[in-house]
Amino acid sequence: MKKILVTGGAGFIGSHLCERLLKEGNEVICLDNYFTGDKKNVLHLLENPYFEMIRHDVTEPFFAEVDEIYNLACPASPPHYQYNPIKTIKTSVLGSINMLGMAKRVNAKILQASTSEVYGDPEVHPQPESYWGNVNPIGPRSCYDEGKRCAESLFINYNQQNGVKIKIIRIFNTYGTRMNPYDGRVVSNFIVQALKGENITIYGDGKQTRSFQYVDDLVEGMIRMMATDDTFIGPVNIGNPGEYTMIELAEKVLELTRSNSKIIFEPLPQDDPMQRKPDISIARKELNGWEPKIELEEGLNKTINYFKTIIA
Ligand code: NAD
Ligand code: UDP
Repeated sequence: MKKILVTGGAGFIGSHLCERLLKEGNEVICLDNYFTGDKKNVLHLLENPYFEMIRHDVTEPFFAEVDEIYNLACPASPPHYQYNPIKTIKTSVLGSINMLGMAKRVNAKILQASTSEVYGDPEVHPQPESYWGNVNPIGPRSCYDEGKRCAESLFINYNQQNGVKIKIIRIFNTYGTRMNPYDGRVVSNFIVQALKGENITIYGDGKQTRSFQYVDDLVEGMIRMMATDDTFIGPVNIGNPGEYTMIELAEKVLELTRSNSKIIFEPLPQDDPMQRKPDISIARKELNGWEPKIELEEGLNKTINYFKTIIA
C-alpha cells in the first residue's frame, strides 16, 4: 500500500484521482483549501479509513511521510484564477516550492499538473512538448500561465539540482462529472445554459478551437505517468486530439440536451487562444499505450446527466 498525497484533491480532477487511487488500494491524503473545490466532491470517500482530508493552503509548508505527491492545487477556470491573480501565482509558485521541498525531504515522487496554457496562444499547431509557447507575460491570463511555467522550471531544477523524482504533465481542456457548474468554463457554461433554457454564450466568433478530454482518460494518463521509470520526467501532453470550434461544441450540447436555447455572441476575452490541440505522440509511446478512449459525445452525455442531477 502506497501513501499518496493529492493537493487540490477536493476539486474536479483531484476528486476523480483520489477515488481511483483508493480503488487501487492506496492510502490517500487529500489536501485542499476549498477555494474552488468542494467537500461534496469527496464525501463519498470519507467512509474509507484509508482516505484522509486536510484543510490546508499549499502556499504554507506542509509535511507528511508519503511515497507520491500529485500537485493539483490551483484554480483552473479563467474567472476563478483571475479573481485573485496574485494568489494564483503564489499557489503555483509557493505551492510548488513547498511540495517540492517536502518531496525532497521525504524522498517522494512528485507529479505536477501543468497545462496546455504554457503554450499560450500557440503559433504551432498541434502543440508538441518541444514548442516553447506564445504567452503574454503581462496579460490577464499570465497569473495562471506564468505561474504554471515557473512551476515547471522549479520542478526541473529540483530534479537537476537536488535529484527529486519529478513528473510533469501538460493537461489539455478536461471536462466531466463533478465540474463546478458555475466555474465559467465553456463545457459547464454551455451545458448549464442549455439545461436551463438560457442563451448559450459564445465568446468571439466561436471559430476558436479547443480539444476536450474526458476526466477518466486524464486520470488514467496521470497514473501511468507516475508509474514510469524515474529517468522519464516529461513534460508530456495529456489530452484528446479531437478538435472542435466553440460553435461546434455549442451545437453538440444543444443536440444532446434537446434544448431550445439560442446561441448568442459576446466579446472575446483578451488573449483567448485561437487554437489548441495536443500532439500526444510522446504520451502514446511512453505511457504504455495510453490514449484517450472517451469520445466527445459519450463524455458530454455523462456530464449532462450529472449536471441534470445537481441543477435539479
Ligand atoms: P478545480 O478548480 O476544480 O480544482 C483545483 C483545486 O485546488 C480545488 O479543489 C481548489 O480548492 C484547490 N486549491 C486552489 N488553490 C489552493 C491552495 N492555495 N491550496 C490548496 N488547495 C487549493 O480545477 P481542476 O480542473 O480540477 O484542475 C486541477 C488541476 O489541473 C489544476 O492544477 C489545473 O491547473 C490543472 N489543469 C486542469 C485543466 C482542466 O481542463 N480542467 C487543464 C489543465 C490543467
Ligand atoms: N467560451 C465561450 N463561452 C463561454 C465560456 C468560454 O465561448 O461561456 C470560450 C472561451 O472564450 C475559450 C473557450 O470557450 O475560447 C474555452 O474556454 P475555457 O474557459 O473553458 O478554457 P480555456 O480558455 O482556458 O481553454
